[in-house]
Amino acid sequence: MGADNTQINFLDPKKAVFSYSQLSTFRNCTEQYKIVYLDRQRKKDESIEAFMGKCVHATLEWLYQEENLRRPYITFDKICKIYDNVWQDSWHEKIFIVDHSLISNHFYAIGKRCLANYYHKYGPIFDQKVYATELSLKFNIDDKYQFRGVIDRLDQPEKGCWEIHDYKSGKRAMTQNMAKKDLQLAMYQMAVEQNFAPVKQISLTWHFLRNGVEMTITHTADEIEKFKRSISKNIDKIIKASRSIENFYPKETMLCNWCYLWDECSAKLPPNPAKRAY
Ligand code: SF4
Repeated sequence: MGADNTQINFLDPKKAVFSYSQLSTFRNCTEQYKIVYLDRQRKKDESIEAFMGKCVHATLEWLYQEENLRRPYITFDKICKIYDNVWQDSWHEKIFIVDHSLISNHFYAIGKRCLANYYHKYGPIFDQKVYATELSLKFNIDDKYQFRGVIDRLDQPEKGCWEIHDYKSGKRAMTQNMAKKDLQLAMYQMAVEQNFAPVKQISLTWHFLRNGVEMTITHTADEIEKFKRSISKNIDKIIKASRSIENFYPKETMLCNWCYLWDECSAKLPPNPAKRAY
């Protein structure tokens, strides 16, 4: 029997621009992938953890703005003020807390701890050789698939030498083994290599802000090639799946608790029970 030709919004691989989140969503739940990337239903709803992470990122982005690089030092009080402002200005009514025993202040304090850990390591001078923050780069794999990635911070300590920095505000830090297998930063390495050739040296650093620890690794050209082959295979799978709606189905896991598409998901009847954050 031929495939069900009910077209979702057919994915044109020549025009599509893929991202790490897209690959990861497809792997975690194809129903969620369909709702977000094919039906293009975007919602403002987000978890308090995601909101806190964004506020911490925005504060660290502020830290490396041109005008701040000229300051002799920055106090932790100033950083806290920026964080407070970002938190208050960005607050909205679609922020949810999965664990009903916790309140938003708990997460606000975790964000502050993230910043305190970072300050302890790099403050008060912050003289890293920052090239850009929140840098959006396009790149391709085998001239076939287009991608876009946003790098938290890219440093250039010397001409041709690059350091990719990624801030994480989640609970767990990665082991070196996990870091070597991490697709997200490997993709950012591809992006930098294509956009800033010739690249002499490149490293990947994760800042696990909550724990105050860091992990730095490098990849060989062979390792990057392996990542490329695996990404290509996964994109082929997505394109193949996109030919029929039957290939998209819910995969219920713990992650559903942090998914705000329960109204759209065929596996969920009630709305997500997470409480509104105040
Ligand atoms: S609620 Fe769960 S199964 Fe449904 S779309 Fe979200 S992650 Fe997938």
